[in-house]
Amino acid sequence: MDEMRDGTRDVIKIGNETFVPMLTEEQIQKRVKELGEQISEDYRGKLPVIIGILNGSFLFMADLVKNVSINCEMDFYKLSSYGDEKISSGNVKLLKELNADINDRHVIIVEDIVDTGLSISYIEKLMATFSPASMKVASLLVKPKCLKYDVKIDYIGFEIEDQFVLGYGLDYAQKYRNLRSIYVLSE
Ligand code: 5GP
Repeated sequence: MDEMRDGTRDVIKIGNETFVPMLTEEQIQKRVKELGEQISEDYRGKLPVIIGILNGSFLFMADLVKNVSINCEMDFYKLSSYGDEKISSGNVKLLKELNADINDRHVIIVEDIVDTGLSISYIEKLMATFSPASMKVASLLVKPKCLKYDVKIDYIGFEIEDQFVLGYGLDYAQKYRNLRSIYVLSE
């Protein structure tokens, strides 16, 4: 039977692995509101283009922009994900291009989680082929101990340990993205 259900579950069992609550819906929403307000303040008088990295960032992106009170535009990149595994393949593929013209625009990249930093450094290189007026990165989660690439994350929701998490956009073999809370693989 499929174990996935709403964000109020105490534990999630997938095969012989157990995921336990790490961040509640309330904690996430409170922090996302703060980030949205900070972005609104930092970009007042500007019209930023907020670019979500699919698939993982879709819920964070939606909640973040609902808390951005200035005008903004939105677009999405889609990158290949971990596939069905819990570890990165070490490769990134671009699966969807941007539609927006970002030359001379203030760009904010929105990620679900920064692990090694490979995906963000890939996006930074892509951005360098355009001429944005500025570029900042927002990530709901960052695993500082896992960083292997020299990337700067300007807006960080939460710093977490080197642990595998799921929920609130983050998948396990493409499932569990619709959970409202974030769960961590129990040791
Ligand atoms: P990076 O390129 O920084 O190594 O990894 C970033 C991407 O890997 C994220 O956008 C996400 O898709 C995936 N990822 C990294 N850590 C986790 C994790 O703990 N859980 C899930 N579900 N995905 C992760």
